[in-house]
Amino acid sequence: MPELPEVETVRRTLNELVGGKRIERVTVTLPRIIQRPAEPEAFAAALAGHTIQTVERRGKFLRILLDGLVLVSHLRMEGRYGVYRQDEPVELHTHVRFRFDDGTELRYKDVRQFGTMHLFAPGEDLANAPLNKLGLEPLDDAFTLQAFKREVAHRTTKIKPLLLNQAHIVGLGNIYVDEALFTAGIHPERAADTLKAPDWARLYDAIRATLGRAVDAGGSSIKSYVNGQGEMGMFQHQLLIYGREDGACTRCGGTIVKTVVGGRGTHTCPACQPLPGNRLKAKVKPRAK
Ligand SMILES: [Zn+2]
Repeated sequence: MPELPEVETVRRTLNELVGGKRIERVTVTLPRIIQRPAEPEAFAAALAGHTIQTVERRGKFLRILLDGLVLVSHLRMEGRYGVYRQDEPVELHTHVRFRFDDGTELRYKDVRQFGTMHLFAPGEDLANAPLNKLGLEPLDDAFTLQAFKREVAHRTTKIKPLLLNQAHIVGLGNIYVDEALFTAGIHPERAADTLKAPDWARLYDAIRATLGRAVDAGGSSIKSYVNGQGEMGMFQHQLLIYGREDGACTRCGGTIVKTVVGGRGTHTCPACQPLPGNRLKAKVKPRAK
């Protein structure tokens, strides 16, 4: 599933590719992608004649701002956008096509068919589902250490599921939570309210740094994520812990373990991320060479 850095990469790419283009006609071939309005015909009719001004992002949702409309799009598992000439063959699993008046069109392709699109009047989208219940934006200036702690530090929940909860912080998925917790040296099963001030400072820095590096690298290409221009993101080569179970920890040489935390596959170095009260168990033997 694309996470914040991937969606940010798609946003930037889409903004370059379709910003300023005027929609002539919209074709929906899989009605269930369109969540609002209820009728895909109404969706298509509303968009005709409107010009895309810019593409923004809220959490993992794209906000395509048009003159007088906002299209909110979530890629979910496998959704992808691409810009094509109108005479290019339409690939399988293409469900929505936005035909522009310059001979090109934006195509939305989604093998798993879990993606969604909602259409709103300007100003309505942020006040309504699905955007109205979203938490802090971790790359915004408003996401300070104080704001972060105010939102989560008093909670008794395990830190990993807490960071994954989009109602508190948006855009952090399984990959980047594992990376940030490893970087900060915090065990994913620690209850949030047991973290001390230095833990919060390290975790805050780790979240910003991990997401920032990933955005710079164009997101990860775990599974089949490809950004809007068809280029694979490069961040998977920089992952420190995610997907590296049974490998050696880059920091201490110990063995990375994979467990399940809150129903999600979780990668931890037991030595670098000790669970307080569990220090004996957390000790790892040096790997035999
Ligand atoms: Zn380690």
